[in-house]
Amino acid sequence: MSYYIGRFAPSPTGALHAGSLLAAVGSYLEARAHQGKWLLRIEDIDTPRVVSGSATQILNTLEAFGLYWDETETFQSQNTERYHAALMQLQQNDLVFPCICSRKQIQQSSHLGIDGYIYPGTCRNKALTDLTRAHAWRLKTPDRIFTFNDRIVGIQQQNLAREIGDFVLKRADGLWAYQLAVVVDDADSEITHIVRGNDLLISTARQIYLQQCLGYPEPVYAHLPILVNATGQKLSKQTLAPAVDTQSIIAVLKQTLKYLSLCPPHEIDQISDLLQWATNNWHIENISYNNITV
Ligand SMILES: [Zn+2]
Repeated sequence: MSYYIGRFAPSPTGALHAGSLLAAVGSYLEARAHQGKWLLRIEDIDTPRVVSGSATQILNTLEAFGLYWDETETFQSQNTERYHAALMQLQQNDLVFPCICSRKQIQQSSHLGIDGYIYPGTCRNKALTDLTRAHAWRLKTPDRIFTFNDRIVGIQQQNLAREIGDFVLKRADGLWAYQLAVVVDDADSEITHIVRGNDLLISTARQIYLQQCLGYPEPVYAHLPILVNATGQKLSKQTLAPAVDTQSIIAVLKQTLKYLSLCPPHEIDQISDLLQWATNNWHIENISYNNITV
């Protein structure tokens, strides 16, 4: 029986780049240092953004870096029935409502929060009866402060109603929203610890509230620094981050460990030895929460 189950959950929107490798290595080392499991989940529900072949490419790259995951990898696209069941549970508990507002309508009648426009509540109390037209499903957010203690970033607080607003769980085009999928999947896999990039810190209060609504346990969170370019943008496919170089794995892995405040001895030149050394010397409390410019 393992008391630590962690995971890495890349989106197959392109090749693994240095930033996603950092999240992979950080979550791997934290799991291994706890003698825990490290699971792999491919987050492929945002189908218009999925790039054919990149899931396989990501798995091959992880293996090339010696980052072997436990159990069989899972795909969000194969779990949509569970998302549907979760939404039905929320419907039965009157925690969600259908919404027919267009993006433009919301922009015109609301103001910007910390992550986009705050939903102005237009459909929340309207009790839409005609559900034949395309509609999204939104979660009713409470006007209260959510607090959690991130193991790297420290105490975090967010008022969901005032800073985020009622957020979408299922889009009008039928696609499942990231926030619902990630919470259902983590609960299904009995994830106890989430280690990921701090670009997702802003989503955590939403996910904790969803866990509460669905009766799921709350995992422990640790948000790693992210790699940014000279203008402060996160390395990503959008900012044209190059794929990690699988021709010089030791050098790339050592650089990644450096980002995680680990300086392995020069003489280590085998991937498995390097990962073992890093696991033995892993100290999450040494990791800075400042983003890293590359
Ligand atoms: Zn609406």
